[in-house]
Amino acid sequence: MNDPRAPGLAAADGDVAARIAATIRPEIRALIAYPVAKAEGMIKLDAMENPYAMPADVRARLANALAEIAINRYPDGGADAVKSALRTSLALADDVALMVGNGSDELLQIITTAVAKPGAAIVAPDPSFVMYRLYAVYANVRYVAVSLRDNFDLDGDAMLAAIERERPALVWIAYPNNPTGNLFDAGTVERIVRAAPGLVVVDEAYYAFADRSFLPRVREFANLIVVRTVSKIGMAGLRLGYAAAHPAWIAELEKVRPPYNINALTQAAVPLLLAERTLLDEQARAIRAERARLTTALATIAGVVVYPSATNFVVVRVPDANAAFAALRTANILVKNLHGWHPLLTNCLRITVGTPAENDALLKGLK
Ligand code: PMP
Repeated sequence: MNDPRAPGLAAADGDVAARIAATIRPEIRALIAYPVAKAEGMIKLDAMENPYAMPADVRARLANALAEIAINRYPDGGADAVKSALRTSLALADDVALMVGNGSDELLQIITTAVAKPGAAIVAPDPSFVMYRLYAVYANVRYVAVSLRDNFDLDGDAMLAAIERERPALVWIAYPNNPTGNLFDAGTVERIVRAAPGLVVVDEAYYAFADRSFLPRVREFANLIVVRTVSKIGMAGLRLGYAAAHPAWIAELEKVRPPYNINALTQAAVPLLLAERTLLDEQARAIRAERARLTTALATIAGVVVYPSATNFVVVRVPDANAAFAALRTANILVKNLHGWHPLLTNCLRITVGTPAENDALLKGLK
């Protein structure tokens, strides 16, 4: 159809469709763009965000700091202030290097791109974070998914067999795992790291809600990278993730990092907010306490099975997840419906831990 604003100039839709079919890779055409649900006016328990806003005094200091930024200039290409603030906050050893990404998502894509040799394979437990598979599709790398056990535990034997068979360039371990919420056995993860011929990335997006981490052990292994994010500790809007590893690994990955990938506002905001240690710890503690309360309360609802969580979300199995999801939506509560994602997730919902009032509304809605 011609564009009425430029009669006779617009290409026909059929021509565009034909060019797309001839140009865009079929595996990309087969995808659906990452869906982000509109949540205006809803209780938002679908995206593992921290439900607590920053207090007014912190916001005021943030506003002052942001007002000083020369946004006509490119940001610091090395994001040095952010890395230095992260080092202090994590008490990171000098022999561990850091790389920062526009969310840890960007780091996952950078790592996938860096290992994507022709014929390479990536191994990961399944179900796990959906972007691992998508980045493999983008990079044209074979993705080998190894099913978790029925109780969402890592199947160590199956993982080791897949590693032996595939000799993967990369193994993903989400620790704790999304979307199942559990923390895999550390000994099994360690055996995987030792057996893997290539890289193992331990993705600790939810570290703030778990009691174990591989970050202090990153230099114990020649092939380990730990990736984290500030998204779940109250800064999802800033988009900042980091990878910690041997400096030689980071030096290779730096070659794939887009220039200026951390914007100036984020570079100013993150150090200021990381310095609010007491506040961040207090919020994480409140979320853990609410997770415990929510888990106990959910378990008392007839027909609901609750799975143990080391994250800021709780997975439940209900008699009919589609119906429960719809009912909650009608009650203006948005959760994630996992039904249909994987056979192990049949009739499962993923509920982000909210404020006490939000969790009460969720419990009421689910009953
Ligand atoms: N890893 C895991 C396991 C996640 O669940 C997520 C977010 N859902 C990410 C990485 C990406 O987080 P971000 O890009 O916000 O840092």
